[in-house]
Amino acid sequence: MTRPSLFGSPPPPTPASPSPATTGTQNDSTITVIAPEGELVLRVKEDEGKEGFLYRVGISRLRGASAYFDNLLGPTFNEGTRISRELEELRKGNTRLLDIPAEQLPEVTIVDVGRISRVSTIKVLMADFLRVLHGSSLGKDPPLLTNMANLAIVADRFDALPTFAALVKKHKYLSLIDSKIKTKGYSASTEERIRQRLLIGVFLDYPPWVRYYSRKLIVQGSARWNPEFVEDDSTALWADIPGIEDESLFRRQCVLDTINSLQVHFMSLYMSNQRQCRLGYDSSAQCDSYQLGEMIRFFNKIGTLRLESRISASDGTTDYEGDITKLIDNLRQCPEYQIDNNHAHCGLRERILPLLLLLQSMIDASGNDIGICGECWRDHKASYAWSLSKRPVMWAKGNGLRPSENHCRNRHGATRDLFMAAQRDWTGDGNFPTLNRTPMFLPGKRPESRPW
Ligand SMILES: [Zn+2]
Ligand SMILES: [Zn+2]
Repeated sequence: MTRPSLFGSPPPPTPASPSPATTGTQNDSTITVIAPEGELVLRVKEDEGKEGFLYRVGISRLRGASAYFDNLLGPTFNEGTRISRELEELRKGNTRLLDIPAEQLPEVTIVDVGRISRVSTIKVLMADFLRVLHGSSLGKDPPLLTNMANLAIVADRFDALPTFAALVKKHKYLSLIDSKIKTKGYSASTEERIRQRLLIGVFLDYPPWVRYYSRKLIVQGSARWNPEFVEDDSTALWADIPGIEDESLFRRQCVLDTINSLQVHFMSLYMSNQRQCRLGYDSSAQCDSYQLGEMIRFFNKIGTLRLESRISASDGTTDYEGDITKLIDNLRQCPEYQIDNNHAHCGLRERILPLLLLLQSMIDASGNDIGICGECWRDHKASYAWSLSKRPVMWAKGNGLRPSENHCRNRHGATRDLFMAAQRDWTGDGNFPTLNRTPMFLPGKRPESRPW
């Protein structure tokens, strides 16, 4: 069975004469029957000013499927006792609930359905949600992704996520979507799609989506993370997924900070008084100067470094906003500079390539990447979240992956240690260049402040 789709961005203008897909206006007095024998009429309003939509529902179904309704319709709440009284009266004249017209049933009004995306009407969405609470399927095919994400938001608002998650699992909706994506390819995903899937993964407890799409968001970045970004209050909850948003931004900053430290490391090495040239020739000092010059020219060319005078005040800039994989690719393009034929291995390329490969492998490592592990996030967030963890003082090369660890929580540690370390010894020999930590070279687009 296919349902009319009411979702889309931007929402279509309201047609002059309603099409079949939009028969429900915000002031629709017809009652949608969810349960023919239901004892209650629910009036659902998006906000106070609207008349809302009416649904005939079963009280015990709602109470069993949603903690919110269990509370609202239970005996401890005024609404609950009022409804029982009204029902008792009704039953005196009628033996069967089915025979009582919906208009005579007790009515309960509910305002606010959660931070869903803009839809032309909430009528069908709420009908779907109430069907879910009554244990009905939403059809053989999975609902459209936006609908599914909106339903998850409504389910969260009414404390019914376990019920919705169980239904989605039972009908294998998410793995069906996965198999469709696999045939069509992942690459076309927009940020909104990524965020919708991430929200669904977190809310409906589907760890593969949490990990895959959080990694994607961390690597791609988001315009929303620019300090200049202006929040639009009509955005749906997936634009700011509780907890996940801060964690993802934090992880991205850690990764950028790590790549940045690599660049600073090599500039500092070649600016220090320690000889970097691999030959012991008279020309070694010139070789180092030449390599430093070419290095700065290269970083400046790929946009990871800007020169800034310390004489007058600096302009504020923001973090790198592009794709992290692209950033690493750009750094890997570093040519093999040679001052003359003798100095074949003195430059940046030979030394930075293995470290860039290491970083890329840590970003991608299967089962151990920078994405948020859905299981660990769900089961032990306090000890797992990067944003809640203490920074290790030092990371040294050689602190690699720990594949022997069999619990996934322990495996994540190696990645987190590298990206969160306060200092990193990139040479692995404890040999730090001794350079003033505030050189006149400011790495391109350094963040203004750190959350730690
Ligand atoms: Zn040399
Ligand atoms: Zn894990």
